[in-house]
Amino acid sequence: MVRDKKEAIVVGSGPNGLAAAIALAQAGLQVTVYEKHEIIGGGCRSLELIQKGYIHDVCSTVHLQVKLSPFFRKLPLGEFGLKWVTPPFALANPFDDGTAAVVSQSMPETLATLDGVDEDVYEKLMSPLVAQSQVLMNEIMQFPRISLRHPLMMSNFGRRALSCTTELARSLFKGKRARALIAGMGAHSGMALEQRGSFASGFLMSITAHADGWPFPEGGSQKTVNALAGYLTKLGGRIITGYEVKSLEQLPPHDVVLLDVTPHQFLKMAKNRLPSSYANKLRQYKYGCGAFKCDWILSGPVPWTAKECYQANTVHIGGYLEEIAAAEREVNQQKHPEKPFVILTQPSLFDHTRVSGDGHIVYAYCHVPNGSNLDMTERIEAQIERFAPGFRDRIIGRHTMSTADLECYNPNCVGGDFLGGAQSLKKLILPSVSYETPIKNTFLCSSSTPPSPGVHGMCGKRAATMALKKIKVIE
Ligand SMILES: Cc1cc2nc3c(=O)[nH]c(=O)nc-3n(C[C@H](O)[C@H](O)[C@H](O)COP(=O)(O)OP(=O)(O)OC[C@H]3O[C@@H](n4cnc5c(N)ncnc54)[C@H](O)[C@@H]3O)c2cc1C
Repeated sequence: MVRDKKEAIVVGSGPNGLAAAIALAQAGLQVTVYEKHEIIGGGCRSLELIQKGYIHDVCSTVHLQVKLSPFFRKLPLGEFGLKWVTPPFALANPFDDGTAAVVSQSMPETLATLDGVDEDVYEKLMSPLVAQSQVLMNEIMQFPRISLRHPLMMSNFGRRALSCTTELARSLFKGKRARALIAGMGAHSGMALEQRGSFASGFLMSITAHADGWPFPEGGSQKTVNALAGYLTKLGGRIITGYEVKSLEQLPPHDVVLLDVTPHQFLKMAKNRLPSSYANKLRQYKYGCGAFKCDWILSGPVPWTAKECYQANTVHIGGYLEEIAAAEREVNQQKHPEKPFVILTQPSLFDHTRVSGDGHIVYAYCHVPNGSNLDMTERIEAQIERFAPGFRDRIIGRHTMSTADLECYNPNCVGGDFLGGAQSLKKLILPSVSYETPIKNTFLCSSSTPPSPGVHGMCGKRAATMALKKIKVIE
Protein backbone atom coordinates (compact mmCIF):
# COMPACT_ATOMS: atom_id res chain seq x y z
CA MET A 1 0.00 0.00 0.00
CA VAL A 2 1.36 3.43 -0.88
CA ARG A 3 0.94 6.07 1.78
CA ASP A 4 0.50 9.57 0.41
CA LYS A 5 0.90 11.37 3.73
CA LYS A 6 3.55 11.07 6.42
CA GLU A 7 2.14 9.32 9.49
CA ALA A 8 2.53 10.89 12.93
CA ILE A 9 1.62 9.35 16.26
CA VAL A 10 1.07 11.28 19.46
CA VAL A 11 0.86 9.38 22.74
CA GLY A 12 -1.24 11.24 25.33
CA SER A 13 -4.04 13.75 24.82
CA GLY A 14 -3.08 16.36 27.42
CA PRO A 15 -2.91 19.96 26.18
CA ASN A 16 0.67 19.39 25.03
CA GLY A 17 -0.20 16.18 23.18
CA LEU A 18 -3.10 17.91 21.44
CA ALA A 19 -0.97 20.97 20.62
CA ALA A 20 1.65 18.70 19.05
CA ALA A 21 -1.03 16.81 17.12
CA ILE A 22 -2.55 20.02 15.76
CA ALA A 23 0.84 21.43 14.72
CA LEU A 24 1.66 18.17 12.89
CA ALA A 25 -1.77 18.04 11.24
CA GLN A 26 -1.47 21.69 10.16
CA ALA A 27 1.78 20.72 8.44
CA GLY A 28 -0.11 18.07 6.45
CA LEU A 29 0.73 14.91 8.39
CA GLN A 30 -1.81 12.16 9.09
CA VAL A 31 -2.00 12.24 12.89
CA THR A 32 -3.31 9.66 15.33
CA VAL A 33 -3.42 10.36 19.07
CA TYR A 34 -3.46 7.42 21.50
CA GLU A 35 -4.87 8.18 24.96
CA LYS A 36 -4.84 5.76 27.91
CA HIS A 37 -7.95 7.22 29.54
CA GLU A 38 -11.44 6.79 28.10
CA ILE A 39 -11.77 10.59 28.05
CA ILE A 40 -9.29 12.96 26.41
CA GLY A 41 -7.57 15.84 28.13
CA GLY A 42 -5.01 14.78 30.76
CA GLY A 43 -4.86 17.63 33.27
CA CYS A 44 -7.88 19.30 31.63
CA ARG A 45 -10.66 16.80 32.22
CA SER A 46 -13.95 17.66 33.89
CA LEU A 47 -16.02 14.91 35.47
CA GLU A 48 -19.10 14.40 37.60
CA LEU A 49 -16.90 13.18 40.42
CA ILE A 50 -19.51 13.10 43.17
CA GLN A 51 -23.03 13.40 41.83
CA LYS A 52 -24.72 13.73 38.46
CA GLY A 53 -25.19 17.34 37.38
CA TYR A 54 -22.10 18.66 39.23
CA ILE A 55 -19.08 19.04 36.94
CA HIS A 56 -15.70 19.22 38.66
CA ASP A 57 -12.35 20.01 37.09
CA VAL A 58 -10.24 17.04 38.07
CA CYS A 59 -7.00 19.03 37.63
CA SER A 60 -6.63 22.49 36.07
CA THR A 61 -9.31 25.18 36.15
CA VAL A 62 -7.68 28.49 35.27
CA HIS A 63 -6.81 28.54 31.57
CA LEU A 64 -5.30 31.97 31.26
CA GLN A 65 -2.32 30.38 29.53
CA VAL A 66 -4.62 29.05 26.80
CA LYS A 67 -5.74 32.60 26.10
CA LEU A 68 -2.19 33.96 26.08
CA SER A 69 -0.40 31.01 24.47
CA PRO A 70 1.39 32.09 21.28
CA PHE A 71 0.00 28.88 19.69
CA PHE A 72 -3.44 28.24 21.21
CA ARG A 73 -4.61 31.83 21.01
CA LYS A 74 -4.35 31.72 17.21
CA LEU A 75 -6.55 28.61 16.90
CA PRO A 76 -10.30 28.98 16.21
CA LEU A 77 -11.27 27.39 19.54
CA GLY A 78 -14.38 29.56 19.90
CA GLU A 79 -15.79 27.80 16.83
CA PHE A 80 -15.45 24.54 18.73
CA GLY A 81 -17.39 25.65 21.78
CA LEU A 82 -14.79 27.39 23.96
CA LYS A 83 -16.26 30.34 25.90
CA TRP A 84 -14.50 32.28 28.64
CA VAL A 85 -15.63 33.29 32.10
CA THR A 86 -13.56 36.00 33.81
CA PRO A 87 -14.40 36.61 37.48
CA PRO A 88 -14.09 40.17 38.84
CA PHE A 89 -10.89 39.30 40.77
CA ALA A 90 -8.27 36.80 39.64
CA LEU A 91 -7.39 36.01 43.21
CA ALA A 92 -8.23 36.74 46.83
CA ASN A 93 -6.02 36.05 49.84
CA PRO A 94 -8.03 36.24 53.08
CA PHE A 95 -6.55 37.13 56.49
CA ASP A 96 -7.58 36.28 60.04
CA ASP A 97 -8.88 39.82 60.60
CA GLY A 98 -11.74 39.16 58.16
CA THR A 99 -10.28 41.17 55.27
CA ALA A 100 -8.50 40.04 52.10
CA ALA A 101 -5.94 41.26 49.59
CA VAL A 102 -6.92 40.78 45.96
CA VAL A 103 -5.37 40.70 42.50
CA SER A 104 -7.68 42.49 40.09
CA GLN A 105 -7.37 43.71 36.53
CA SER A 106 -7.89 47.12 38.09
CA MET A 107 -4.63 48.20 39.71
CA PRO A 108 -6.35 50.75 42.01
CA GLU A 109 -8.74 48.02 43.20
CA THR A 110 -5.73 45.82 44.02
CA LEU A 111 -3.79 48.60 45.73
CA ALA A 112 -6.77 49.45 47.90
CA THR A 113 -6.48 46.02 49.54
CA LEU A 114 -2.75 46.38 50.38
CA ASP A 115 -1.08 48.34 53.19
CA GLY A 116 -0.86 51.97 52.02
CA VAL A 117 2.91 52.00 52.47
CA ASP A 118 3.31 49.37 49.72
CA GLU A 119 1.02 50.79 47.06
CA ASP A 120 3.71 52.58 45.03
CA VAL A 121 6.20 49.74 45.10
CA TYR A 122 3.58 47.17 44.10
CA GLU A 123 2.37 49.35 41.27
CA LYS A 124 5.95 49.93 40.02
CA LEU A 125 6.73 46.21 40.23
CA MET A 126 3.72 45.14 38.18
CA SER A 127 2.45 47.92 35.90
CA PRO A 128 5.33 48.21 33.36
CA LEU A 129 5.21 44.45 32.77
CA VAL A 130 1.42 44.28 32.82
CA ALA A 131 1.45 46.75 29.93
CA GLN A 132 3.62 44.28 27.96
CA SER A 133 2.10 41.04 29.23
CA GLN A 134 1.48 39.41 25.83
CA VAL A 135 4.98 40.26 24.59
CA LEU A 136 6.40 38.93 27.85
CA MET A 137 4.39 35.72 27.57
CA ASN A 138 5.60 35.23 23.97
CA GLU A 139 9.22 35.58 25.09
CA ILE A 140 8.87 33.30 28.10
CA MET A 141 7.25 30.62 25.98
CA GLN A 142 10.56 30.46 24.05
CA PHE A 143 12.61 29.67 27.20
CA PRO A 144 15.40 28.79 27.66
CA ARG A 145 16.03 30.69 24.40
CA ILE A 146 16.09 34.41 25.15
CA SER A 147 15.78 36.92 22.34
CA LEU A 148 17.42 40.31 22.56
CA ARG A 149 14.36 42.08 21.22
CA HIS A 150 13.12 43.34 24.59
CA PRO A 151 16.18 43.65 26.83
CA LEU A 152 14.65 46.12 29.29
CA MET A 153 11.46 44.10 29.74
CA MET A 154 13.36 40.84 30.11
CA SER A 155 15.84 42.20 32.62
CA ASN A 156 12.98 43.79 34.54
CA PHE A 157 11.23 40.41 34.65
CA GLY A 158 14.34 38.27 35.04
CA ARG A 159 15.94 39.95 38.04
CA ARG A 160 12.72 39.46 40.05
CA ALA A 161 11.85 36.05 38.64
CA LEU A 162 15.22 34.62 39.55
CA SER A 163 14.96 35.83 43.16
CA CYS A 164 13.73 33.79 46.05
CA THR A 165 10.17 34.67 46.95
CA THR A 166 10.64 35.39 50.66
CA GLU A 167 13.66 37.66 50.15
CA LEU A 168 11.95 39.57 47.35
CA ALA A 169 8.72 40.03 49.31
CA ARG A 170 10.55 41.22 52.43
CA SER A 171 12.94 43.53 50.61
CA LEU A 172 10.26 45.22 48.50
CA PHE A 173 7.32 45.45 50.87
CA LYS A 174 6.92 46.72 54.41
CA GLY A 175 3.36 45.51 54.96
CA LYS A 176 2.12 41.96 55.44
CA ARG A 177 -0.61 42.05 52.81
CA ALA A 178 1.52 42.53 49.67
CA ARG A 179 4.04 40.04 51.08
CA ALA A 180 1.23 37.49 51.41
CA LEU A 181 0.18 37.97 47.77
CA ILE A 182 3.76 37.46 46.58
CA ALA A 183 4.19 34.37 48.79
CA GLY A 184 0.98 32.76 47.55
CA MET A 185 1.98 33.29 43.92
CA GLY A 186 5.46 31.90 44.55
CA ALA A 187 3.98 28.82 46.23
CA HIS A 188 2.50 27.63 42.91
CA SER A 189 6.05 26.59 41.95
CA GLY A 190 6.02 23.78 44.53
CA MET A 191 9.46 25.00 45.64
CA ALA A 192 10.46 26.21 49.09
CA LEU A 193 9.96 29.98 48.95
CA GLU A 194 13.53 30.48 50.15
CA GLN A 195 14.79 28.90 46.90
CA ARG A 196 15.98 31.09 44.04
CA GLY A 197 13.64 30.93 41.06
CA SER A 198 10.61 30.19 43.25
CA PHE A 199 8.98 33.45 42.18
CA ALA A 200 9.44 32.96 38.42
CA SER A 201 6.12 31.32 37.57
CA GLY A 202 4.32 33.31 40.29
CA PHE A 203 5.59 36.58 38.85
CA LEU A 204 4.28 35.70 35.40
CA MET A 205 0.98 34.59 36.95
CA SER A 206 0.68 37.91 38.83
CA ILE A 207 1.43 40.00 35.75
CA THR A 208 -1.01 38.11 33.54
CA ALA A 209 -3.64 38.16 36.30
CA HIS A 210 -3.50 41.94 36.31
CA ALA A 211 -3.53 42.06 32.53
CA ASP A 212 -6.26 39.54 31.71
CA GLY A 213 -7.79 38.28 34.96
CA TRP A 214 -7.73 34.54 35.46
CA PRO A 215 -10.34 33.28 32.98
CA PHE A 216 -11.58 29.74 32.86
CA PRO A 217 -13.63 27.86 30.27
CA GLU A 218 -17.38 27.95 30.76
CA GLY A 219 -18.53 24.44 31.59
CA GLY A 220 -15.14 23.21 32.81
CA SER A 221 -11.58 22.67 31.64
CA GLN A 222 -12.76 19.77 29.46
CA LYS A 223 -14.16 22.41 27.11
CA THR A 224 -10.64 23.58 26.25
CA VAL A 225 -9.43 20.13 25.23
CA ASN A 226 -12.71 19.32 23.51
CA ALA A 227 -12.25 22.45 21.39
CA LEU A 228 -8.65 21.43 20.60
CA ALA A 229 -9.84 17.93 19.70
CA GLY A 230 -12.64 19.37 17.54
CA TYR A 231 -10.15 21.44 15.59
CA LEU A 232 -7.73 18.52 15.28
CA THR A 233 -10.52 16.33 13.90
CA LYS A 234 -11.37 19.03 11.37
CA LEU A 235 -7.74 18.92 10.23
CA GLY A 236 -8.12 15.18 9.68
CA GLY A 237 -6.54 13.97 12.94
CA ARG A 238 -7.86 10.92 14.84
CA ILE A 239 -7.98 10.27 18.56
CA ILE A 240 -8.14 6.76 19.96
CA THR A 241 -9.04 6.63 23.65
CA GLY A 242 -8.78 3.79 26.14
CA TYR A 243 -5.46 2.74 24.58
CA GLU A 244 -2.41 2.62 26.82
CA VAL A 245 0.94 2.59 25.06
CA LYS A 246 3.08 0.35 27.26
CA SER A 247 5.89 -0.06 24.76
CA LEU A 248 6.97 1.82 21.65
CA GLU A 249 6.98 -1.58 19.92
CA GLN A 250 3.19 -1.71 20.01
CA LEU A 251 2.80 1.40 17.81
CA PRO A 252 1.78 0.95 14.17
CA PRO A 253 4.22 2.05 11.42
CA HIS A 254 4.89 5.78 11.54
CA ASP A 255 7.28 8.47 10.38
CA VAL A 256 7.43 10.33 13.67
CA VAL A 257 6.15 9.90 17.23
CA LEU A 258 5.63 12.51 19.94
CA LEU A 259 5.18 11.44 23.54
CA ASP A 260 3.17 13.50 26.01
CA VAL A 261 4.73 11.60 28.91
CA THR A 262 7.36 12.33 31.56
CA PRO A 263 10.92 10.90 31.57
CA HIS A 264 10.32 7.84 33.79
CA GLN A 265 7.34 6.79 31.67
CA PHE A 266 9.42 7.15 28.52
CA LEU A 267 12.13 5.00 30.08
CA LYS A 268 9.60 2.19 30.60
CA MET A 269 8.11 2.56 27.13
CA ALA A 270 11.48 2.55 25.38
CA LYS A 271 12.44 -0.75 27.12
CA ASN A 272 16.13 -1.25 26.31
CA ARG A 273 16.34 0.86 23.18
CA LEU A 274 18.03 3.81 24.91
CA PRO A 275 21.81 4.28 25.24
CA SER A 276 22.80 3.77 28.89
CA SER A 277 24.00 7.35 29.42
CA TYR A 278 20.64 8.78 28.31
CA ALA A 279 18.71 6.12 30.23
CA ASN A 280 20.67 7.03 33.38
CA LYS A 281 19.86 10.68 32.86
CA LEU A 282 16.16 9.83 32.70
CA ARG A 283 16.46 7.59 35.78
CA GLN A 284 17.93 10.51 37.72
CA TYR A 285 15.18 12.89 36.63
CA LYS A 286 13.69 14.46 39.76
CA TYR A 287 9.98 14.83 40.42
CA GLY A 288 8.65 17.55 42.68
CA CYS A 289 6.16 17.63 45.51
CA GLY A 290 2.76 15.99 45.09
CA ALA A 291 -0.72 17.32 45.70
CA PHE A 292 -3.61 16.20 47.85
CA LYS A 293 -6.89 17.39 46.36
CA CYS A 294 -10.46 17.63 47.70
CA ASP A 295 -13.59 18.33 45.65
CA TRP A 296 -16.87 19.19 47.27
CA ILE A 297 -20.48 19.83 46.45
CA LEU A 298 -21.77 22.50 48.83
CA SER A 299 -25.33 23.50 49.60
CA GLY A 300 -24.34 27.16 49.02
CA PRO A 301 -21.24 29.24 48.36
CA VAL A 302 -18.25 29.01 50.72
CA PRO A 303 -19.30 31.33 53.59
CA TRP A 304 -16.25 33.60 53.49
CA THR A 305 -15.79 36.22 56.18
CA ALA A 306 -13.94 38.50 53.75
CA LYS A 307 -16.42 39.76 51.17
CA GLU A 308 -13.70 40.05 48.49
CA CYS A 309 -13.45 36.25 48.36
CA TYR A 310 -16.89 36.06 46.72
CA GLN A 311 -15.50 37.96 43.71
CA ALA A 312 -12.56 35.63 42.97
CA ASN A 313 -12.48 32.14 41.49
CA THR A 314 -9.10 31.36 43.06
CA VAL A 315 -8.51 31.86 46.78
CA HIS A 316 -5.11 31.45 48.42
CA ILE A 317 -5.53 30.17 51.96
CA GLY A 318 -2.60 30.43 54.30
CA GLY A 319 -2.71 33.95 55.74
CA TYR A 320 0.56 35.83 55.70
CA LEU A 321 3.96 35.11 54.15
CA GLU A 322 5.45 33.45 57.25
CA GLU A 323 2.76 30.77 57.38
CA ILE A 324 2.73 30.16 53.61
CA ALA A 325 6.54 29.92 53.52
CA ALA A 326 6.60 27.57 56.53
CA ALA A 327 4.08 25.23 54.90
CA GLU A 328 5.96 25.03 51.60
CA ARG A 329 9.31 24.66 53.41
CA GLU A 330 7.96 21.70 55.37
CA VAL A 331 6.68 20.01 52.22
CA ASN A 332 10.11 20.42 50.66
CA GLN A 333 11.57 18.79 53.79
CA GLN A 334 9.27 15.81 53.15
CA LYS A 335 6.90 16.79 55.98
CA HIS A 336 3.15 17.39 56.08
CA PRO A 337 2.32 20.88 57.35
CA GLU A 338 -0.28 21.10 60.12
CA LYS A 339 -1.50 24.29 58.42
CA PRO A 340 -1.02 23.65 54.71
CA PHE A 341 -1.09 26.41 52.12
CA VAL A 342 -4.34 25.71 50.26
CA ILE A 343 -5.24 26.76 46.70
CA LEU A 344 -9.02 26.81 46.27
CA THR A 345 -11.22 27.39 43.23
CA GLN A 346 -14.97 28.07 43.27
CA PRO A 347 -16.00 28.31 39.59
CA SER A 348 -19.74 27.79 40.09
CA LEU A 349 -19.95 31.26 41.69
CA PHE A 350 -19.44 32.59 38.15
CA ASP A 351 -20.43 29.65 35.94
CA HIS A 352 -23.84 28.16 36.64
CA THR A 353 -23.59 25.67 33.79
CA ARG A 354 -21.61 23.31 36.02
CA VAL A 355 -24.19 22.77 38.74
CA SER A 356 -27.81 21.80 39.05
CA GLY A 357 -29.99 23.83 41.37
CA ASP A 358 -28.51 25.95 44.14
CA GLY A 359 -25.50 23.76 44.89
CA HIS A 360 -21.91 24.82 44.36
CA ILE A 361 -18.75 23.01 43.39
CA VAL A 362 -15.43 23.86 45.00
CA TYR A 363 -11.99 22.28 44.92
CA ALA A 364 -8.89 22.80 46.96
CA TYR A 365 -5.49 21.22 47.07
CA CYS A 366 -2.31 21.52 49.06
CA HIS A 367 1.22 20.36 48.39
CA VAL A 368 2.48 17.21 50.09
CA PRO A 369 5.76 15.29 49.75
CA ASN A 370 6.05 13.28 46.53
CA GLY A 371 4.38 9.89 46.98
CA SER A 372 2.74 10.91 50.29
CA ASN A 373 -0.14 8.72 51.43
CA LEU A 374 -1.39 10.95 54.24
CA ASP A 375 -5.03 12.04 54.05
CA MET A 376 -4.95 15.86 54.26
CA THR A 377 -8.75 16.36 54.10
CA GLU A 378 -9.09 17.38 57.75
CA ARG A 379 -6.21 19.89 57.56
CA ILE A 380 -7.44 21.41 54.29
CA GLU A 381 -11.00 21.76 55.61
CA ALA A 382 -9.72 23.31 58.88
CA GLN A 383 -7.84 25.94 56.89
CA ILE A 384 -10.95 26.82 54.86
CA GLU A 385 -13.14 26.85 57.98
CA ARG A 386 -10.71 29.35 59.55
CA PHE A 387 -11.55 31.94 56.88
CA ALA A 388 -15.10 30.72 56.18
CA PRO A 389 -16.76 29.58 59.42
CA GLY A 390 -19.64 27.24 58.63
CA PHE A 391 -17.94 25.80 55.51
CA ARG A 392 -18.16 22.22 56.79
CA ASP A 393 -21.88 22.56 57.47
CA ARG A 394 -22.43 23.21 53.76
CA ILE A 395 -20.72 20.04 52.52
CA ILE A 396 -23.14 17.74 50.69
CA GLY A 397 -20.58 15.51 49.01
CA ARG A 398 -16.82 15.08 48.99
CA HIS A 399 -14.24 13.41 46.75
CA THR A 400 -10.55 13.25 47.61
CA MET A 401 -7.41 12.36 45.66
CA SER A 402 -4.11 11.38 47.25
CA THR A 403 -0.85 11.43 45.31
CA ALA A 404 -1.42 7.77 44.39
CA ASP A 405 -4.95 8.51 43.17
CA LEU A 406 -3.63 11.36 41.01
CA GLU A 407 -0.98 9.12 39.46
CA CYS A 408 -3.47 6.31 38.90
CA TYR A 409 -5.83 8.79 37.22
CA ASN A 410 -3.04 10.31 35.10
CA PRO A 411 0.33 8.51 34.92
CA ASN A 412 2.04 11.84 34.16
CA CYS A 413 1.43 12.89 37.80
CA VAL A 414 4.35 10.80 39.05
CA GLY A 415 4.11 10.61 42.87
CA GLY A 416 1.37 13.24 42.64
CA ASP A 417 3.65 15.81 40.94
CA PHE A 418 1.54 17.62 38.35
CA LEU A 419 4.26 19.98 37.14
CA GLY A 420 6.09 17.30 35.17
CA GLY A 421 9.14 17.39 37.46
CA ALA A 422 10.74 19.31 40.32
CA GLN A 423 11.07 23.01 39.57
CA SER A 424 14.38 24.78 40.22
CA LEU A 425 16.42 27.76 39.14
CA LYS A 426 18.73 25.41 37.22
CA LYS A 427 15.80 23.87 35.36
CA LEU A 428 14.56 27.32 34.32
CA ILE A 429 17.88 28.13 32.72
CA LEU A 430 19.02 24.67 31.65
CA PRO A 431 16.08 22.26 31.19
CA SER A 432 17.05 18.71 32.15
CA VAL A 433 15.21 17.02 29.26
CA SER A 434 14.80 18.18 25.71
CA TYR A 435 12.35 17.22 22.97
CA GLU A 436 14.68 15.07 20.92
CA THR A 437 15.52 11.59 22.17
CA PRO A 438 18.18 9.11 20.99
CA ILE A 439 15.47 7.01 19.28
CA LYS A 440 15.10 8.10 15.66
CA ASN A 441 12.16 10.48 15.05
CA THR A 442 10.90 10.03 18.62
CA PHE A 443 10.29 13.17 20.67
CA LEU A 444 9.10 14.08 24.15
CA CYS A 445 6.48 16.84 24.28
CA SER A 446 5.01 16.88 27.82
CA SER A 447 5.35 19.59 30.44
CA SER A 448 8.63 17.98 31.53
CA THR A 449 10.13 19.68 28.46
CA PRO A 450 10.57 23.45 27.94
CA PRO A 451 9.19 26.00 28.37
CA SER A 452 7.20 25.20 31.54
CA PRO A 453 4.21 23.40 33.05
CA GLY A 454 0.70 24.79 32.55
CA VAL A 455 -2.01 24.63 29.91
CA HIS A 456 -0.37 26.59 27.08
CA GLY A 457 0.56 23.73 24.74
CA MET A 458 3.94 25.25 23.93
CA CYS A 459 5.89 22.12 24.91
CA GLY A 460 3.84 20.23 22.33
CA LYS A 461 4.02 22.93 19.68
CA ARG A 462 7.78 23.37 20.01
CA ALA A 463 8.43 19.62 20.03
CA ALA A 464 6.30 19.29 16.88
CA THR A 465 8.24 22.09 15.16
CA MET A 466 11.51 20.31 15.93
CA ALA A 467 10.08 16.99 14.72
CA LEU A 468 8.85 18.56 11.47
CA LYS A 469 12.33 19.95 10.83
CA LYS A 470 13.95 16.57 11.52
CA ILE A 471 11.71 14.75 9.07
CA LYS A 472 12.20 17.62 6.63
CA VAL A 473 8.59 18.70 6.36
CA ILE A 474 9.65 22.24 7.23
CA GLU A 475 13.04 23.96 7.05
C1 LIG B 1 -4.94 19.75 40.81
C2 LIG B 1 -4.30 20.41 39.61
C3 LIG B 1 -4.56 21.75 39.35
C4 LIG B 1 -3.97 22.38 38.24
N1 LIG B 1 -4.31 23.68 37.96
C5 LIG B 1 -3.84 24.26 36.84
C6 LIG B 1 -4.36 25.52 36.43
O1 LIG B 1 -5.30 26.06 37.03
N2 LIG B 1 -3.84 26.08 35.29
C7 LIG B 1 -2.84 25.47 34.55
O2 LIG B 1 -2.40 26.04 33.54
N3 LIG B 1 -2.37 24.25 34.91
C8 LIG B 1 -2.86 23.63 36.03
N4 LIG B 1 -2.45 22.36 36.34
C9 LIG B 1 -1.35 21.75 35.56
C10 LIG B 1 -1.81 21.26 34.19
O3 LIG B 1 -2.88 20.37 34.34
C11 LIG B 1 -0.63 20.57 33.50
O4 LIG B 1 0.49 21.46 33.47
C12 LIG B 1 -0.97 20.17 32.07
O5 LIG B 1 -2.13 19.37 32.02
C13 LIG B 1 0.20 19.40 31.47
O6 LIG B 1 -0.15 19.03 30.17
P1 LIG B 1 0.55 17.81 29.42
O7 LIG B 1 -0.10 17.70 28.11
O8 LIG B 1 2.01 17.96 29.49
O9 LIG B 1 0.21 16.49 30.30
P2 LIG B 1 -1.15 15.94 30.87
O10 LIG B 1 -2.19 16.96 30.87
O11 LIG B 1 -0.81 15.28 32.16
O12 LIG B 1 -1.58 14.82 29.81
C14 LIG B 1 -0.88 13.62 29.62
C15 LIG B 1 -1.83 12.63 28.96
O13 LIG B 1 -1.09 11.50 28.52
C16 LIG B 1 -1.82 10.32 28.80
N5 LIG B 1 -0.87 9.22 28.88
C17 LIG B 1 0.16 9.10 29.73
N6 LIG B 1 0.81 7.95 29.52
C18 LIG B 1 0.17 7.32 28.50
C19 LIG B 1 0.38 6.09 27.83
N7 LIG B 1 1.37 5.28 28.16
N8 LIG B 1 -0.45 5.75 26.83
C20 LIG B 1 -1.47 6.58 26.45
N9 LIG B 1 -1.71 7.75 27.07
C21 LIG B 1 -0.90 8.12 28.09
C22 LIG B 1 -2.48 10.63 30.13
O14 LIG B 1 -3.58 9.79 30.39
C23 LIG B 1 -2.88 12.09 29.93
O15 LIG B 1 -4.16 12.18 29.34
C24 LIG B 1 -3.06 21.67 37.41
C25 LIG B 1 -2.82 20.31 37.66
C26 LIG B 1 -3.45 19.68 38.75
C27 LIG B 1 -3.23 18.21 38.97
